[in-house]
Amino acid sequence: MNFKNTLLFAQKLDRQDKLNAFQSNFIFPKKRGEKCIYMAGHSLGLQPKNTKKYVDEVLDSWGELAVDGHFKGDNPWSTYHEKFKEPLAKIVGAKPEEVTVMNTLSVNLHLLLASFYRPTVKRFKILCEEKAFPSDQYILESQVKWHGLDPKDVIEVIPYNEEGFEIRTETILNKIEELGDSLALVFMGGVHYYLGQVMDIEKITKAGQAVGAKVGWDLAHAAGNISLELNSWNVDFAAWCSYKYMNSGPGSISGVYVSERYHQDASMIRLAGWWGNKKETRFLMKPYFEPETSADGWQLSNIPILSMVPYYASLLMFDKVGMESLIRKRDKITAYLDFVVEEVNKVTPVEMRVITPKYPKRACQISIFFSEDGRAIFEYLEENGVIADWREPNVIRMAPVPFYTSYEDIYRIGTLLKEAVDKIAVRHEVW
Ligand SMILES: *Cc1c(COP(=O)(O)O)cnc(C)c1O
Repeated sequence: MNFKNTLLFAQKLDRQDKLNAFQSNFIFPKKRGEKCIYMAGHSLGLQPKNTKKYVDEVLDSWGELAVDGHFKGDNPWSTYHEKFKEPLAKIVGAKPEEVTVMNTLSVNLHLLLASFYRPTVKRFKILCEEKAFPSDQYILESQVKWHGLDPKDVIEVIPYNEEGFEIRTETILNKIEELGDSLALVFMGGVHYYLGQVMDIEKITKAGQAVGAKVGWDLAHAAGNISLELNSWNVDFAAWCSYKYMNSGPGSISGVYVSERYHQDASMIRLAGWWGNKKETRFLMKPYFEPETSADGWQLSNIPILSMVPYYASLLMFDKVGMESLIRKRDKITAYLDFVVEEVNKVTPVEMRVITPKYPKRACQISIFFSEDGRAIFEYLEENGVIADWREPNVIRMAPVPFYTSYEDIYRIGTLLKEAVDKIAVRHEVW
């Protein structure tokens, strides 16, 4: 498509955009009374307007029913998580029994690794990517130490390619081959949080399993953003948070996928709690653990309903709109953002380089590297109502979330980027 960096063109795209009206379902932060342009949905999605109603309902049933709310009322808490299975399975491409919701993301990754990282003398290596999200790095490092091993001997990191800004599938596949039967686990982010790169989950999973390793994915930046087929890709396990692209509120509950291949597998080791026990015998309070034969078998605690309700409200919205139409707009609006940044780049002395790989290796994120003044440009955007994300040393990450970003927003960002460079250049001269 031939884009133009003009207000009229952006407004025309907005008129053609079927999701444009959807913005009004969200609450936007304001700056000097004006709605902000929100580019930080990769960190914390906006609050849908209907969330409050669902939370209020739970508060009401807690007030009215107290302990009886577990089993009575319109939405009994003891089985609340079961409502998630159908809509969530659709989003991650799994069978309903393969998904569950529990805890928060880092906690779940530890719980899953307790089951899926079982190092032996021969097979103990872990493969991950460079600059994985810090929590993931700490998780792997501490898991390795917890098994009495030295992370230096165990963790293999796939670096960015020579040009610096892509993690090549080919490099990963070669490394998997090389590690062979010493490889216990491949564990990576489905979408790289810093680069915005979409990983080839299917290919990497296949290659890891071909040498006998388990393959798991952190889908924090993938769930609700990219098309996923966890079941047909044969992924072993995965987890994601619900508060980024899935708009479920700060620190909200995490989703988990465990392949059906493990549900009945009696040899699976896990860290158990009573909520993972079979529903039928859970309240018999028996002294031994009998896991539920689904992903629910990995649950521990009774369900934090207040944190689940916003997720459910959000899933209803995803279900209504469908991933396909979100993805269609995502690709177009991300391409438009890339185009606008490039147009501004042509006319400014500061180099603005989009370091996110091109489609189809990108989704709803553009990371822009600034040759200089990145921080000052970021602050100028912020001062003018654009909320984005700053990463040292010189990168701004922007996510034009299809649910609530307009093409006009993107045009405005371009204008502000240009203005920022002009203003900062003047400041340099004064100095
Ligand atoms: C956001 C994010 C997390 C955060 O984990 P929490 O336990 O929810 O705080 C972990 N991993 C990745 C890849 C993330 O993007």
